[in-house]
Amino acid sequence: MQIGRRQFFKLCTVGAASASAATLGFAPGVAHAGQSRQYKLLRARETRNNCTYCSVGCGVLLYSLGDGAKNAKGRIFHVEGDPDHPVSRGSLCPKGSGLVDFINSPDRLKYPEVREPGSNEWKRIGWDEAIERIARLMKDDRDANFVERNDMGQRVNRWASTGFLGSSAASNETGILDVKFARGLGMVHLENQARLCHGPSVAGLAPSFGRGAMTNNWVDIKNADVILVMGGNPAEAHPVGFKWAVEAKIHNNAHLMVVDPRFNRTAAVADFYSPIRAGADSAFLLGIAHYLLSNDRIQHEYVRAYTNAPLIVREDYGFDDGLFSGYDADKRAYDRSSWTYELGEDGYALRDETLQHPRCVFNLLKKHVERYTPEMVSSICGTPIKDFLHVCERLASTSVPDRTTSILYALGWTHHVGGSQIIRASAIVQLLLGNIGMPGGGINALRGHSNVQGFTDLGVLANMLPGYLTLPSESQQSLQAYLDERTPKPLVDKQINFWRNTPKFMVSFLKGMYGENATAENDFGYDWLPKWDRAYDVMAYVEQMHKGQVNGYIVQGFNLIAAAASSGKVREGLAKLKYLVVIDPLTTETSSFWQNHGEFNDVDPAQIQTTVFRLPSSCFAEEDGSIANSARWLQWHAAAQPPPFEAQHDGRILGSLMTRIRELYQQEGGTCPEPLLNLDWNYHDPKSPHSEELAKQINGYALADLYDDSGKPIAKKGELLSSFAQLRDDGSTSSLCWIYTGQWTPAGNMMARRDNTDTGFGNTPGWAFAWPANRRLLYNRASADPSGKPWDPKRAFLHWDGNAWAGADVPDYPAGSPPNSGVSPFIMLQDGVGHLFSMGALVDGPFPEHYEPQESPIPANPLHSGSGKSPVTRIFKDDLPSFGGREEFPYVATSYSVTEMFRHWTKHSRLNAIVQPEQFVEISEKLAASKGIAAGDTVKVSSQRGYIRGKAVVTKRVMTLQVAGQEVEQVGIPVHWGFEGVTRKGFLANILSPRVGDANTQTPEYKAFLVNVEKA
Ligand code: SF4
Repeated sequence: MQIGRRQFFKLCTVGAASASAATLGFAPGVAHAGQSRQYKLLRARETRNNCTYCSVGCGVLLYSLGDGAKNAKGRIFHVEGDPDHPVSRGSLCPKGSGLVDFINSPDRLKYPEVREPGSNEWKRIGWDEAIERIARLMKDDRDANFVERNDMGQRVNRWASTGFLGSSAASNETGILDVKFARGLGMVHLENQARLCHGPSVAGLAPSFGRGAMTNNWVDIKNADVILVMGGNPAEAHPVGFKWAVEAKIHNNAHLMVVDPRFNRTAAVADFYSPIRAGADSAFLLGIAHYLLSNDRIQHEYVRAYTNAPLIVREDYGFDDGLFSGYDADKRAYDRSSWTYELGEDGYALRDETLQHPRCVFNLLKKHVERYTPEMVSSICGTPIKDFLHVCERLASTSVPDRTTSILYALGWTHHVGGSQIIRASAIVQLLLGNIGMPGGGINALRGHSNVQGFTDLGVLANMLPGYLTLPSESQQSLQAYLDERTPKPLVDKQINFWRNTPKFMVSFLKGMYGENATAENDFGYDWLPKWDRAYDVMAYVEQMHKGQVNGYIVQGFNLIAAAASSGKVREGLAKLKYLVVIDPLTTETSSFWQNHGEFNDVDPAQIQTTVFRLPSSCFAEEDGSIANSARWLQWHAAAQPPPFEAQHDGRILGSLMTRIRELYQQEGGTCPEPLLNLDWNYHDPKSPHSEELAKQINGYALADLYDDSGKPIAKKGELLSSFAQLRDDGSTSSLCWIYTGQWTPAGNMMARRDNTDTGFGNTPGWAFAWPANRRLLYNRASADPSGKPWDPKRAFLHWDGNAWAGADVPDYPAGSPPNSGVSPFIMLQDGVGHLFSMGALVDGPFPEHYEPQESPIPANPLHSGSGKSPVTRIFKDDLPSFGGREEFPYVATSYSVTEMFRHWTKHSRLNAIVQPEQFVEISEKLAASKGIAAGDTVKVSSQRGYIRGKAVVTKRVMTLQVAGQEVEQVGIPVHWGFEGVTRKGFLANILSPRVGDANTQTPEYKAFLVNVEKA
């Protein structure tokens, strides 16, 4: 059923927005029937859960009828905000308000189905048949293509011809099962949505501060004096989280600034807005760094004590005309050995506290950014100089100890080929201002999907293992070799260098994977893990698929064809698979890629020989488990109804498959069964592991009696661990994800806690559990000076009480390390200080640099004499013809989300479909006039890779910019439609975007590429 906006308002007979309509219960069907009655909430069961869309993680109350008696299955009929939730406090945005229609969507899958090769239809099958057929396909493919040893004879135990895409809204308990399932089978392609969204956040933040996560939390935004929203649009993408920015304005008189290619809904309530060309963010941020340094508007004491400004860099480091030292043009890669400190005889970095040494980081940074003058920034970004200086000045006002800036960003920074370095540039700005570790400060990476943070933490990524351990490469042939390479040594005396504990984390992970089969004698089963030889990220895997090198793909809660770059190429790749297994609550374009939907998906099913299985799974409202919001809060939620029809929990689907595959190996033998059969899959029901037992496995157990250094007992054999400080490297502890240890202790499920007491600054440590160790504000020791005195008396977040650090939060620091001990606050890093210079942690430079997007609207980068593009961007040779030029495609396209919709999920929810029923694009008035386009006309937007059509929204929100001496037009492309759903059919907008990826994370460019626009 499709209902237009006008019809809906007629039905409701009031001009209310969707949010209020949903809350009042005006589901269109009810209104249409002319019925009006109160909800019978007293007869309902109330279940606490969290919104499944974005990573604000708002609390929701699910109301269901049906008491569980025979034939009285629960059914959810109403959803509203949880007033106790410390972030959302009862609010829901238009997306959350439509949740009841997501749960009860007519597009929910009902039964397992198969589409046979060349067929034009789905065929209903039973679960037994589905599991049997898929297990057989997987085993046959694994037996034929599993690689035990590579050409050099090294043991690699990998299976590359079938891959697994994990969800980003499923629970952490499903996520860890994905890891055990895929790695146990030897898969090297295991990915999740993070690759396509916030990968650059981890790559940019972790080398800067030590961890790749949002530094502060949602509520803390209210403590800011200045808020810079750049590379994000939280009023639309994270509406309920954004209310804390509004709180800062109301109660803290905060100055809210928005820098964005469009005058968006965040800008509409900001104090200041400035336009910027999409793809020019690094130049803007490096210009700010130059402004701060050249005008001496930095927090000197913080910079000297808490950053690597005084440390001296090697003499052979250099930068010239866009290239850092060590570039190898043939390999399109850098040798990064010169990007590090000069070490003294003691092995520690040399330093100059006076900041006079020409090669100390401070002076190298000054030199590096001196090209980014306001004039240069304006030329590259199209931002008027006065606007740029306004932003600089307001940020500089927080270089004093008693004022802070909070930076909010999201996909507007990560969806660029240089995304990791944009985030690095913001880290440099905040370190110069002394704003990291401060209440109301920080860099707040606003994560997207509800559990993309969790799936990232759990290492559902090709090159990762849980807890930010890395998957071994084939050159790391023994556990010792792996640990030797992966365990960092301190670079400055007295520092914590917390990753020195890598052996404890890794051995405990292996014990979690292989249980009693992991022993010291067999390196704790290290050999059984797959070892990678090359990239297996999503973009690389689509390339391999397209070349016919992939046979099978299991896709769980991930609409690949709608999410990956260049949907046309993804479609062609899927058509070359032998089998595709889609596990999802809903119909998706990925499962239907073989169906002809006219110009929206113009394929011939008879030519597509892929066998496609479509397995119905539960949604968030039907499972118990935890999800991690953007602020690292692990929130436990509960099921309010069973999965509908024949849908099953993800755990049951994976458990049934794994059990059957193991049976087949036991019965028939096959290629290298050891990794699989030695996997610890000893659940109470191996076909259906419980969320609780998985959550406890993630947390970890004492496998022997444990004692501290003084011999005092700290845990008995068989007990749950209380902290990652208890982990051991001798096999006496297990933990599948060390950063989550503490989530379920002998005291109970910490993630289910609901004490919303404010301990100061809006901090609520009794609500749920935050990794690591329940810290809510990362690097919080940096809120006080080295002597322990808070930088700002009104922001006294932690204090030294004579014996230990205490205050509003758990110290992110050794609790007993006194002031002036010389231990610096960034405890995860080898030198203990924030990194202005990131050394060799990123592959494209220790300092950020502005490079033009692969498809640039200007002929040259004003900063460089060469191409001006990044010399190490991820590009596949076969994709070169798919890039367009500025003559044929003169306009810069940028894609984004709108308030009422969440990516490609809400198009299955009627309430959301009603308010955004149809595809549209935004263009400036000037561009519209030049093309004879009026508002409401249908326009065709094309790139070298394909086209879409949509309604033209002609708007002042998009401006014509002056860039490098020429006019540049930008085109706004919301992404929410497709050929499945209850909206009107539309195009997958990602058909337009190029296959070019960030050098560090291979995250594709979705926000700066070239298109043409015509009246259709
Ligand atoms: S989409 Fe995000 S902001 Fe909106 S209700 Fe859900 S969690 Fe909250």
